[in-house]
Amino acid sequence: MSLAAGRPYLAIPGPSVIPDRVLQAMHRGSPNIYEGPLIEMVASLMPDLRMVAGTTGHVALYIGNGHAGWEAANANLFNRGDKALVLAVGQFGLSWANSARAMGIEVEVLDFGKSSPADMERVEAALRADTGHKIKAVLTTHVDTASSIKTDIPTLRKAIDAAGHPALLAVDCIASLGCDEFRMDDWGVDVMVAACQKGLMTPPGLAFVWFSEAARQRCGRTDLATPYWAWGPRAEPEEFWQIWDGTAPTSHLYGLREALDMIHEEGLPQVWKRHQTLASAVWAAFDAWGAGNPAIAMNVADPVNRGWSVTAARLGAPNATRLRQWCETKAGLTLGIGLGMAPSTDPAYHGFLRVGHMGHVNAHMTLGALAVMEAGLVALDIPHGPGALANAARIIAANA
Ligand SMILES: *Cc1c(COP(=O)(O)O)cnc(C)c1O
Repeated sequence: MSLAAGRPYLAIPGPSVIPDRVLQAMHRGSPNIYEGPLIEMVASLMPDLRMVAGTTGHVALYIGNGHAGWEAANANLFNRGDKALVLAVGQFGLSWANSARAMGIEVEVLDFGKSSPADMERVEAALRADTGHKIKAVLTTHVDTASSIKTDIPTLRKAIDAAGHPALLAVDCIASLGCDEFRMDDWGVDVMVAACQKGLMTPPGLAFVWFSEAARQRCGRTDLATPYWAWGPRAEPEEFWQIWDGTAPTSHLYGLREALDMIHEEGLPQVWKRHQTLASAVWAAFDAWGAGNPAIAMNVADPVNRGWSVTAARLGAPNATRLRQWCETKAGLTLGIGLGMAPSTDPAYHGFLRVGHMGHVNAHMTLGALAVMEAGLVALDIPHGPGALANAARIIAANA
C-alpha cells in the first residue's frame, strides 16, 4: 500500500519546488529577441537581481547552472597562473577549487572538514604568509549544500582586512540566495555567484555573477575571460544579445521575473525569516529524534553554523537510504541524498541524507515533511526520541 498519490514534494536542496506562477509565466512561445517587450522585461530584472544580492554593483547573467557560475567567476577573476585561496567546508567548496585548478589557476585549499565551520584565524594566517600578495581572491561558499555549513562572511571579510591583504572576496551563494540573510555590499563581498534553481525558484538554467566596482576595475580582462565568459559586455551591453553572448533564455527569463515578483511581494527580510523559522522547525525535530537514538544527528552541531536552506543529517547506515525510499514511495516526499560524506560505493553512504527547505516552502510543507519522516521512522522500526512534531509545531506557532 502506498499513500504517495497526490502532489509530490521534492524536498532536495535544489532544484527546489517551482511555484505554479513561475511555471505558468514560462509557458509561452518564443518572443522576439531583437526588440519589444522582452528587452524591457529583462531590463526590469536587473534592479531586482541587485536587490536580492544586497548590492548596487554589477551583475552578469549566463545560461548555465551553478558550475557555470563558478567558471564565470574564475574566468573573470584570474589569469592563468594566478593564485586562489579556497575555503572548503564540504563538497561544494572542494568542487569550486577543482574548477579553478582545471582552468590553470593555482589553488591553495584550506580544508576545514565536513562538520566544522571555517577557522578565520587560519585564513588570516594563510593570507599573512602570502607576503608577495600572489593570492588574487579568496573563494568560499556561503552555505555548502553538502554539509549545510554556513560560513560567517562578515568575519571572513574582517580576517582578510586584518591580514592587510588586497585579495578580493568571492562567495558562492547558490544554495543561500533568497533563503539566508546575505548583504553583498554591507559585508564587503566583491564577487558573488548564484543560480536560479534554488532560492530563486526557477528551473535550472540561469547563473549569475555579481561584482563590485573594485572587482570591475581589477578583473574582467584576464586571459581566461574569452568572449563567452567575459562579464563586461554582459553587465554593460551595448546590444541586447551581448547580455547572453547569443540568444536569450527566453522562457527562463519570464519565470525569473515572476519569481522575483513573488520575493518582492513577500519582502526579502520576511523571505529570510520564513527560511530561518522553517529550518528551526526541522532542527527541533532532529533534536527530538536524536535524543532517543545517538545514531540520529544533524551534521552541524551549533545552529549558528547551519544554513537556513538545507539540513544535512545522519541516521546510521543503512537507515538514511531506507527512510528516503520509504518517504518517496509511500508518501510522495523526496529527501536529498547525502553528498560528499561517504563514497556512494561505501556502505556508510546509506547513513546520510539532507532535507532541502529552500525557496517555495511554507509551514505546512515543512510540518508535512517532518510528519512523513516520523511515520517512516515508525514504519521502519528506526529508534527515535519522541516529541519531534510537537517541537516543530511549537516553533511554527511561536513565529507565525
Ligand atoms: C547547487 C550548488 C552548486 C552547484 O550548482 P549546479 O547548478 O548543480 O551546478 C554549487 N554550489 C552550491 C553551494 C550549491 O548549492
